[in-house]
Amino acid sequence: MQFYLNGFRGGDPDIADAAPGRRYRGPHDPLPEKVDVLIAGCGPAGLCLAAQLSQFPEIETMIVDPKPGPIEKGQADGINTRTMEMFQAFGFGEKVKRESYWVNQTAFWSPDPANPSHIRRIGRVQDVPEDSSEMPHTLINQARVHELFLDVMRNSPSKLEPDYSWAVRDVVVDPSTDDHPVAVTLENTGVNAGETRTLRANYVVGCDGARSNVRKAIGGTLHGDAAHQAWGVMDILANTDFPDVRQKCLITSSTEGNILILPREGGYLFRMYVELDKLNPDERVSARNFSADDMIAAANRIMAPYTIDVKEVVWWSIYEIAHRLTDRFDDVGDDEDRNPRVFTAGDACHTHSPKAGQGMNVSMQDTFNLGWKLAHVLQGRADASLLRSYSRERWVEAKRLIDTDHQWARIMSAPPGQSELDGAGMPRFQKQFIENLIFTGGLAVRYDPSTLTAEPTHQALATGQEIGRRFHSAPVVRVADAMQMQLGHVALADGRWRVFVFAGENPSEALGLVEWLGSDPGSPIVKTRRAGEDIDALIDLRAVFQGRFDQIALEHMPPLLKPLKGRLGLQDHEKVFCLDHKGLGDIYQMRGIDRVQGCMIVVRPDQYIANVLPLSDRQGLAGFFDAILTPATDAP
Ligand code: FAD
Repeated sequence: MQFYLNGFRGGDPDIADAAPGRRYRGPHDPLPEKVDVLIAGCGPAGLCLAAQLSQFPEIETMIVDPKPGPIEKGQADGINTRTMEMFQAFGFGEKVKRESYWVNQTAFWSPDPANPSHIRRIGRVQDVPEDSSEMPHTLINQARVHELFLDVMRNSPSKLEPDYSWAVRDVVVDPSTDDHPVAVTLENTGVNAGETRTLRANYVVGCDGARSNVRKAIGGTLHGDAAHQAWGVMDILANTDFPDVRQKCLITSSTEGNILILPREGGYLFRMYVELDKLNPDERVSARNFSADDMIAAANRIMAPYTIDVKEVVWWSIYEIAHRLTDRFDDVGDDEDRNPRVFTAGDACHTHSPKAGQGMNVSMQDTFNLGWKLAHVLQGRADASLLRSYSRERWVEAKRLIDTDHQWARIMSAPPGQSELDGAGMPRFQKQFIENLIFTGGLAVRYDPSTLTAEPTHQALATGQEIGRRFHSAPVVRVADAMQMQLGHVALADGRWRVFVFAGENPSEALGLVEWLGSDPGSPIVKTRRAGEDIDALIDLRAVFQGRFDQIALEHMPPLLKPLKGRLGLQDHEKVFCLDHKGLGDIYQMRGIDRVQGCMIVVRPDQYIANVLPLSDRQGLAGFFDAILTPATDAP
């Protein structure tokens, strides 16, 4: 973690100074008349976006929610490894690692053939495949995730706070102007319930959940199906003689249905998803009046011969499985003549069954994709057409996930005879679970070739860093202080691009490239740098060499790898890395990087790999950025 760049200041380094000149608005001050971005909804999608935009105090962001304040418990709890990587970039990955339950193993239980009314363990699976991510799969209360994002907002230079007790009622885009063209009607849901206000925004993002008003306003409809299966979920403090209660378990009984057990943070709490009754096609789950006691009774029947003695029901809910998707995530769709002004994200445009643990994760990944694009456009760093890529990229991923989730939900709810084997030794649901691990880890996302993710022409130079997928971290040593660390952890949620230069067998080619990047008028770093900005304000260059840390001469590194930055012109010592010599692994070998030729890997601000290029291909790099970034008009 780097701080004191602009002078020493005591106290918590996570708390940034308020940006000078930011527009301050107290809790009882009138709402603004104009904002840059209006976010509807303080769920995971909205808060992730607000946390990202709060890093840019020049962008006026407002986030509203009809609730009177933050939620305290319930809803989703699964944080997949990809989301944990994103939390690391937001600065609270370590906090979640410390507080959460880590899903290391998943156990499978099914009826004992000798006594089908009793269950017995039939297998265990490692939950996170080896070296799929440096971060764990964790379980933690959704409300805690909200708090962590709220802290990021509060501690940011914008000091952003939500406006609770306001709901977005309507959104209308005026196509005749580019100056705050979106009229947003807000309705008070608090002490002045019913009172309305209209404000204007440059962009509106509907993160307002499955019943989204923003989606309705832009003509979006959720399509899909319900499985007509009632499930109950409860977070409980309980004692049990079931031996695997501190492992994630999938349990199928012969006649009583299925259960999913998810141990939770703190060591005592756990969650149970309990299969309740099949619903008739036209029946809503609310009609059945299920209670927490029904769930506890069903759990005891399914888990026989084991029993559960519930001491406290912390939270419970009953729901139906539904997989739904809108046909576009913005207000323009295929209209080539307009750039989007209104977006939907998260449950507002896709819903999943909770058992694959995707809803919260995908929702946050949606807005992590959108946040940097909005910031680039509002800062004048990219053309507004960049915003078209949001719907295009995220719709494909939502569809892929829904198809997988759909299949999983059906297997989970199949009668035991059908979910048992196909004959070859492993129950179908265990086999499918293993096949799904890459999806459930959030690691299957792969954006198609586009302006933002190049064709894989030079993919052979880094076979383990696939263009379109997220940058896969690996251990390195930071040369200046011999610090063993994950290279991916230099990529923060700060809206910056990263270029990783991996030196080949002859380091002079890499050094020559770095010289060019730091000084040539054709370099994308030079071209996009604005007056008064640090050289790495938009594109952050890092270099990795193949020697040990004591074989690398920092003093001979080009200026771009030890730039002078900030108000005091202090040298940044954290740009140069080398192989890990303490046994954690060789990044070249782990990620298939060509040792002879080396390569450049371009990583987007949302950590997805945009391009892999030979070290000699300076024009390829310049051309790639030319298609996305606007040159600075006031270069230093
Ligand atoms: P949400 O979390 O739904 O957040 C939407 C926010 O928008 C809410 O804060 C809402 O108050 C606000 N809002 C609504 N209308 C407006 C408006 N007009 N204007 C402004 N704001 C508005 N997932 C699981 O994996 N497991 C579970 O057990 C589980 N249980 C759930 C139980 C409930 C009651 C709910 C609602 C969801 C549950 N989910 C569960 C789903 C999971 O919580 C969501 O997938 C995830 O929260 C999606 O995040 P989101 O930000 O898109 O939407």
